[in-house]
Amino acid sequence: MSRTLLVIALTFPLSLSSQRPPRQADVRVQGTSLTRDQEMQIGKQFASQVEREMEVVHNPEVEQWLNLIGQKLAKTTQANAYPYYFKLVNDDSINAFALPGGPMYVHTGLLKAADSEGEVAGVLAHEMSHVALRHGAAQITKQQRYGALFQVLGAAAGTLTADQNGQCGLLCQVTQAGTSLGENSLLMKFSRGYERDADLNGARMMAAAGYDPIQLPQFFEKLVATQGTSAEPKGLALWMASHPATGSRIKYVSDDIKFYPKCDYVSATGSFQRVKKLVASLPPAKPQPGKLIQSKQGASERTNLPSGFKDYPANGFSIGYPGAWQVGQAQPGSSLYMIPQGGVAQSQNSGTELLSGAMIDYYVPQAGASAVRLETSTREFIDSMQKGDTSLKAEKPQPAEVGGKPALRTRLTTKTSLQQEPEQVVYLYTVTREAGLWYLVLATQPSKLVELDPVFNQIVTTVQFPD
Ligand SMILES: [Zn+2]
Repeated sequence: MSRTLLVIALTFPLSLSSQRPPRQADVRVQGTSLTRDQEMQIGKQFASQVEREMEVVHNPEVEQWLNLIGQKLAKTTQANAYPYYFKLVNDDSINAFALPGGPMYVHTGLLKAADSEGEVAGVLAHEMSHVALRHGAAQITKQQRYGALFQVLGAAAGTLTADQNGQCGLLCQVTQAGTSLGENSLLMKFSRGYERDADLNGARMMAAAGYDPIQLPQFFEKLVATQGTSAEPKGLALWMASHPATGSRIKYVSDDIKFYPKCDYVSATGSFQRVKKLVASLPPAKPQPGKLIQSKQGASERTNLPSGFKDYPANGFSIGYPGAWQVGQAQPGSSLYMIPQGGVAQSQNSGTELLSGAMIDYYVPQAGASAVRLETSTREFIDSMQKGDTSLKAEKPQPAEVGGKPALRTRLTTKTSLQQEPEQVVYLYTVTREAGLWYLVLATQPSKLVELDPVFNQIVTTVQFPD
């Protein structure tokens, strides 16, 4: 009698674990106070930031291939009906990321490290699952430390105001919060729980789209296994940092797959090897405006500037400015402002309006950065500004020199939202660079021109380019 009981006690738990798990794991869409529209708006803003910093690869064959796979996944119920789109960025580190609402970016390094279309589909499905399960949105609303994001977005939405009391104002704070998206991984670094949910939802998404779901965890674990070996691909550290270990991915995804309806996984475009060849033949990435405009890490300030000036050494140029002015960007990757007190305001269309001071950026011609020509691109740039500002009038561009390069100096006049003195005089300096037309805008009200004109001229003399 007692012997029988013992046998039952021993065999019962054993027989349970050898059978399929009693219940399939729960995967939840996270709660967030953001609406879907707000999520998409945030994603759109970050997408434009990404594309000013990273070079999007325009190769019709590769783009089409990536979108074929992506849209197949996007049609599944697991994708939660977000308007996904997929772009390849020229970066040899291993990564892929999706922004809230659906913009998704795949690094060339990921395609180089993958050995099959299914592995690529697995990464897409995992990243899309973070969007579908609203992980980025939940992260933004839940966590205090993402307060920085609100500042950045708040500034972009037009709450940027000039510092009135001589202290470090919002512009200054925004500058401090302005780390680049790629390194900050504000929206790409998730908890282990979210990672696991993205694996499970991603595997279900793959199966529903006709891809073998086991390829998702297999690829993740294959990458981990190369760590510290000669086979370790470039940029694995970034990948590891944004995809924390979650225990055995293969084990828990395999457990989940037991619940899927039996079927043959036949999805494949048949173009993977061809795409890999195309990606391998791409030229190295060109520096993008959003990177060139950021201050250069570890650069020392020049000492030969006009008295009272500070230096702003950026990745693509150096420029000096009066020490009492503030320097910053309305959001990371956006135009660089150098402004005296009261020099910038919130504009009616909820953007940043420069009243007085300097603004620096690159204009990329319609036909692309490689089509940049000093005269025609300057003309195109002024035309594009006039489309958005009907009071803008331009005089004939005059030859000039900036940083030892041939430049054009164009005098413009327009109107600002300032009540007392809406008239504005603008000096536009343009120089051709590899990333596009570099420009420096110096603007002020006519009544302040006597005072600021010498300062503007000093600023122009401080500009230097690295080559
Ligand atoms: Zn993830």
